[in-house]
Amino acid sequence: MQTRGISLLSGGLDSMLAICVLRDQGIEMEGVVFVSPFFDAKSARQAAAQLGVRLHELDFTADILALVRDPPHGFGGAMNPCIDCHAAMIRRAGAFMRQGGYDFVSTGEVLGQRPMSQNRKSLETVAQASGLPGRLLRPLSAQLLDPTEPELEGRVDRARLCAIQGRQRVEQLALAKRFGLKTFPSPAGGCLLTEKGYCRKLRDLFDHTEGIPAAEDVALLRFSRHFRLPGGGRIIVGRNRADNQALKALAARGRALLHTVNVPGPTAAILGPIGPEDLRLAAGIVAHYGDRGGLPQITVRHLTPEGQTEFAAEPLPREAFEPWML
Ligand code: SF4
Repeated sequence: MQTRGISLLSGGLDSMLAICVLRDQGIEMEGVVFVSPFFDAKSARQAAAQLGVRLHELDFTADILALVRDPPHGFGGAMNPCIDCHAAMIRRAGAFMRQGGYDFVSTGEVLGQRPMSQNRKSLETVAQASGLPGRLLRPLSAQLLDPTEPELEGRVDRARLCAIQGRQRVEQLALAKRFGLKTFPSPAGGCLLTEKGYCRKLRDLFDHTEGIPAAEDVALLRFSRHFRLPGGGRIIVGRNRADNQALKALAARGRALLHTVNVPGPTAAILGPIGPEDLRLAAGIVAHYGDRGGLPQITVRHLTPEGQTEFAAEPLPREAFEPWML
């Protein structure tokens, strides 16, 4: 009977090689990738197209938000709950495996490649936490790990799997050449949870939200200029025309906005309730970034689902509002 596997495909070289190594022994392989406000499927789509494999995209938003709120194994260097995230992905892939009648789940993990998340203990922890220990195959390091069920059943030929370990990528590059892989993204990057600047905004959102933040609020963190005002209000101020248009579109979803009236300037979205003093300060920030040409005051419009008002705002000096920037 034809052996079929499903492999986590991030788009990085190792995840591509895992598929190549298994396909090389006649196993039918498909890819799975997870999408959330913190990572997307762009690289995986390119990799799947290059490999000519079918790619399944699974929404991981609820899973990862719950883990960022409460990661059983803690965070990495920023707000990346890598051990739990990885285990949860494999658990979801395992459910997908059972539903789709595949024989195993594979990954491109390499023993010892990352000191925290890919040492022997972490690989074992992930395998146990995923609830899938016997059906989780790491073809690039398989000969250094205990045999899995598909190997014991003879569905996968262990002798044709690899024994790669460590941070050197010499063997991976040789395999890439052998399998004719021409382009692949660099191994690092791609997950916003590892970016400290982004995580300042995310930490603030979690600290000011009871339970799990809404996915829409998390998606807004991709805008760069966020401010937490002294009274607790939060605003996002557009940095360019594309930002301003995207922020204006939020009015249709019930968000309040501020924008300049008598001079060109940015749009700001107000997230959540805001008091009168914070509103004045927010207008001062919008006025600061406006193209005011020496005017001591400019007119700012406050647009809410209930209606709109206009008032004069004095630009705040940068040093006044810089401490509120997230
Ligand atoms: S880097 Fe991001 S996507 Fe990757 S395991 Fe860590 S938290 Fe998950």
